[in-house]
Amino acid sequence: MSAENDWSPRSQAARALGWIDPETRAVTPPIHPASTFLRDPDNQYSSGYSYARDSNPTYDQAEALLCELEGGAGAMLFASGMAAAGAVFLNLRPGDHVLAPRVMYWGLRKWLLEFAVPWGLDVDFVDMGDPASVAAALRSGQSRLVWLETPANPLWGISDIAAIAALAHDAGALLAVDSTVATPVLTQPLALGADLVMHSATKYLNGHSDMVGGALVTARRDGFWQGLAAIRHDGGGILGAFEAWLLLRGMRTLFPRVETACRNALAVAEHFHGHTEVAEVLYPGLPSAPDHELAARQMRGGFGGMLSLRLRGGEEQAVAVAARVTLWARATSLGGVESLIEHRASIEGPDTPVPGDLLRLSCGIEAADDLIADLESALRTG
Ligand SMILES: *Cc1c(COP(=O)(O)O)cnc(C)c1O
Repeated sequence: MSAENDWSPRSQAARALGWIDPETRAVTPPIHPASTFLRDPDNQYSSGYSYARDSNPTYDQAEALLCELEGGAGAMLFASGMAAAGAVFLNLRPGDHVLAPRVMYWGLRKWLLEFAVPWGLDVDFVDMGDPASVAAALRSGQSRLVWLETPANPLWGISDIAAIAALAHDAGALLAVDSTVATPVLTQPLALGADLVMHSATKYLNGHSDMVGGALVTARRDGFWQGLAAIRHDGGGILGAFEAWLLLRGMRTLFPRVETACRNALAVAEHFHGHTEVAEVLYPGLPSAPDHELAARQMRGGFGGMLSLRLRGGEEQAVAVAARVTLWARATSLGGVESLIEHRASIEGPDTPVPGDLLRLSCGIEAADDLIADLESALRTG
């Protein structure tokens, strides 16, 4: 699954590896909705395709491009980010010990607590911003997996992938990284020592808020990867052909979208840093952020399109500001071309680590001045 040229990642993405449909010379691939494929007279499948739960030709180019951008040995699309993440944990055995972040995408934290723990995984939630806490929680020979997310939802703390990979490997565990927010434009976890990368492809990879999908990329095509392929195949959490096609189209503009989102996030963060209505701006791109140095070392070309604001007026003001904005869309999710705003605490429920005064912002590709003016006027009125 390697590229057939020596283009830079930006060109690989823009041209989707440069693949041309061999039959028609079309510059974009066809969608293959077929669920089944004809057998040869000798009962073989010379095309390599047999049934759409096994593999689908519409996946091939999207998986190959993502694999190339992450520098992996293989990539697999899933029905959603949660299906991809869940597959990694389901590929372990009841009784296995795993480490997960204290602050992470809340849906996966909820699934770990409500499904994976009752199923039998022994999960410790640790501070992934502190490699010493990770070292202390690892049990040599017993820990099978360390899961981390960086930047981590929705406080945007950074975890040191290289340091944690070394600790995990010393203990005999794998390291998997939810790189949804960083994207392969800003961070390549496999090059830093991670074994697996997970994406909610719903977010930046597709980038247009018009499909739900997930992906895993592996450093090695080993037994663990074969297990993941069996979970997708046998469990059936496959992506539809139309979604795979939309994902490939979305990935062609990944670089300019992520770069614009990073610029907008930095502009918003700088504008509201020290603002009279704002208690704190959480963004690793601000030089005053506690993780700024690590972020600058680990992330290339930007600090991501996500940031959070903590408002002096507390929860009441946060909810009111989200109600008053007009350009920012009041909606969940992230990583699309449209900027989104969300009061996370009311979504995540009573045991969330997220403060009530926090608004999560996903910067899209609109003009930074418009985004800032809209927030300013929402903060001023009321
Ligand atoms: C959205 C998201 C997920 C879950 O992905 P779905 O595609 O919604 O299933 C996991 N991790 C992060 C960081 C996310 O933003």
